[in-house]
Amino acid sequence: MRAKLIDGKAIAESLREEVKQSVDERLSKGLPVPGLATVIVGDNPASRVYVRMKHKACEEVGILSIGHELPANAKQAQVEDLVRKLNADPKIHGILVQLPLPAGLDEESVLNTISLQKDVDGFHPINIGRLAQKGREPLFVPATPSGVMTLLEHTGVKLEGANAVVLGRSNIVGMPVSLLLVSANATVTICHSRTKDLPGIIREADILVAAVGIPEYVKGDWIKPGAIVIDVGVNRVEDDTLKRGYRLVGDVDFEEAGEVAGAITPVPGGVGPMTIATLLQNTLRAARLADGNG
Ligand code: NAP
Repeated sequence: MRAKLIDGKAIAESLREEVKQSVDERLSKGLPVPGLATVIVGDNPASRVYVRMKHKACEEVGILSIGHELPANAKQAQVEDLVRKLNADPKIHGILVQLPLPAGLDEESVLNTISLQKDVDGFHPINIGRLAQKGREPLFVPATPSGVMTLLEHTGVKLEGANAVVLGRSNIVGMPVSLLLVSANATVTICHSRTKDLPGIIREADILVAAVGIPEYVKGDWIKPGAIVIDVGVNRVEDDTLKRGYRLVGDVDFEEAGEVAGAITPVPGGVGPMTIATLLQNTLRAARLADGNG
């Protein structure tokens, strides 16, 4: 492989260590332990895995985390009442409602109920709106997109004036990443399922962020030589040689792209660990906001 590997695992590890030190410092100064509340509605197995990982990560850095679960048939009012209770709880600095919510619940309305100061996932419509406006700053930036930007920073690539292509326009990854890249003065092309000549557009990219959810979709000959490739995708593909019967791959054909790109993230071990590290950073920031030190 010719491309430099962008080691998200190691970068995330050092961020987690920084958060741990800051939490320890807070405690030595008599400041409150940062507290994160998670809310799961229903029994989506992937959501359970993600939330469990988030609690474990909190525990490792000394952040208090409290899980709340509601049944899949919970009513809108029940979910929003829980969020309001958490808004009012001084031990809780950050609230994370694990998405997606079961069909029938109004996700936007739930996200709107979260106090802006506790919106550590950064999905409150006002935080997203601020992200989209020139000269305005959200209180919190969504974790995965923020993690993508941290990885880019670590490569040393100059974002200003760079041609960046974002593959995917979802609310949780593609669109916020695009907005962050625009804020960093990159020239951004957003691609989606109706985009024509995807390979041609991607070949112009100095920076490619792939968040499409299709295993190994982006081929090596779509990549501009020397480009920086950030692969957000996490996809299971069958693999009978492994005991668990599957392996995880990204949205980019790693072997092929690794021969052409200047730097690339692996899957797993690229963006994934950054998402959790950024959530910890956001929770610490929420605790500082509550102290009056934003
Ligand atoms: P999503 O909501 O399904 O969005 C996928 C996007 O890709 C959509 O904008 C869709 O276009 C576009 N798309 C679908 N097929 C396409 C095609 N053939 N050509 C071009 N664009 C196409 O997915 P997501 O939630 O953003 O997640 C994307 C991937 O990132 C998934 O693999 C997910 O597991 C992973 N992920 C990882 C993390 C992490 O922490 N590492 C966090 C979140 C997500 P339309 O808008 O036109 O439908």
